[in-house]
Amino acid sequence: MVPHHDTVTDLDQELSGRLGQIREAGLWRELRRVDSPQGARIRIAGQELLNFSSNDYLGLAHHPALRDAAAKAAQDFGAGSGASRLICGSLAPHHQLEESLAEFKGTQAALAFSTGYAAALGAITAVLGKDDVIVVDKLVHACCVDAARLSGAKLRVFGHNDLDDLERILRWADGRGAEGRRGRTLVVTESVFSMDGDLAPLKDIVDLKERHGAWLMLDEAHATGLFGEHRRGVAEAFGVAGRVEIQMGTLGKAFGAAGGYIAGSRVLADHLVNRARSFIFSTAPVPAAAAAARAGIEVVAGSDGAQRCHRLWTLVDFFKKGLVNSGWPPGLVQSAIIPLMVGDETAAVALADTLRASGVFIPAIRYPTVARGAARLRATLSAGHTAEEVTGAVAALVANRPPAPVA
Ligand SMILES: *Cc1c(COP(=O)(O)O)cnc(C)c1O
Repeated sequence: MVPHHDTVTDLDQELSGRLGQIREAGLWRELRRVDSPQGARIRIAGQELLNFSSNDYLGLAHHPALRDAAAKAAQDFGAGSGASRLICGSLAPHHQLEESLAEFKGTQAALAFSTGYAAALGAITAVLGKDDVIVVDKLVHACCVDAARLSGAKLRVFGHNDLDDLERILRWADGRGAEGRRGRTLVVTESVFSMDGDLAPLKDIVDLKERHGAWLMLDEAHATGLFGEHRRGVAEAFGVAGRVEIQMGTLGKAFGAAGGYIAGSRVLADHLVNRARSFIFSTAPVPAAAAAARAGIEVVAGSDGAQRCHRLWTLVDFFKKGLVNSGWPPGLVQSAIIPLMVGDETAAVALADTLRASGVFIPAIRYPTVARGAARLRATLSAGHTAEEVTGAVAALVANRPPAPVA
């Protein structure tokens, strides 16, 4: 038996102090154990909750096609992948997944990573170094910010969706080139912003980066599977997919599985295999995850996916109208992410707690995920919801609306 030490180490003491501050600031976080599969209803602490918190936008996480594919891959290829991709862990399911991804995205190639986070980290650090410039939207996901810092490139942040600010920074980067400095510029943005649910002005951003000879990396984590004729993402919907050098996404949201990907040219994929450290120095994803993701892509690409996508947009509209009719209109609704601004961190958490007690799970999102004082409830809809469930969530929201919500 491993001995259990009761001694409080110096580290523990230090960390306890820091945790105390986190609690006092109303920013304490803890895990909630879920005792059911992902779905429109989940079970937490013995209570069944209407789930408006998941990224399983098309209801695929528990879809039989994905479950069966995962089970079959575990039977055929085992539970573990044994090694990194470049040693002996590059199993058939990984290659099949990458072929399906490239076909789905309409790119020459695609490379799968163990998470979207790892994809961003690997791609940005493989492409940029200290002579380069990386320009990110103020609201890009933490993985792109962390990657930017790790790359050693000069990091510049433009105001959220602010084209003038972006142009100002790109002009400054041009000036560096004119001074004879080496180095290239990469712009990074999201197509659907994860905490506000709004879209980037993608056409204008693509025009801008081309005028300045910069490259673009687009994170489509919340858009793949949901936008565009073939559900490839917002780049497809806006007709600019062929002009985005690095297309990134996750396999853990609409695709219903887990993992991340980069889609683009063959040269880009080859470069990442050679240089992306999060790809090279990490055990390959388990076969079941790769196979489930591939099955998810196939569902999304087919008529089942089309129907689910249509259903999701119908429900989003229904949810929005319900709130508008009840006098609590949400902000701009452009995706399946609907933020309801509260402002104060403690008030947002209290509201989420009250909703949960009434059987509706809509999480409070607060600092550091969003800015201080910009706490909100963040509702995400799924094709797995019924109209009645959406009506139930709206009713619970309206019944518990705080006295003076900050719009
Ligand atoms: C979820 C998310 C990621 C990370 O993807 P994982 O596969 O969950 O690691 C990256 N970017 C955005 C915008 C996301 O929402």
